[in-house]
Amino acid sequence: MEQECIFCKIARHEIPSQIVYEDEDVVAFKDLNPVAPVHILIIPKKHISGVMAVTDENSDILGKIFLAAKTLASDTGIDKTGFRVVANHGKEAGQSVFHLHFHLLGGRALSWPPG
Ligand code: AMP
Repeated sequence: MEQECIFCKIARHEIPSQIVYEDEDVVAFKDLNPVAPVHILIIPKKHISGVMAVTDENSDILGKIFLAAKTLASDTGIDKTGFRVVANHGKEAGQSVFHLHFHLLGGRALSWPPG
């Protein structure tokens, strides 16, 4: 499963992606189909299938992901204008990749509530 997971492959640099941040535990790359001027996906390098697979044992990664989100928001300037960090889980949220990821979105006015 982790062998087949597209985001694991990106984390292992096995397929091309536009990586904009990387550290020991976290990778961030540009979304292939951006829905905002800034649309970056932030993922743990280690495979976690989604929000419901976060546990006491692996939850430290969430702080690291949010620190990366802060860095990327500052780097792209959206810390000044506003941004959203979103994790989709399951069918009704439209989750399409089953490796935990957070969308960092900004660079335009974002509507609320989401459609
Ligand atoms: P989600 O609906 O939350 O599961 O979002 C998955 C996101 O991954 C979508 O916004 C896709 O455009 C994006 N995506 C899928 N494959 C790739 C890829 N190879 N490189 C970059 N983004 C991707």
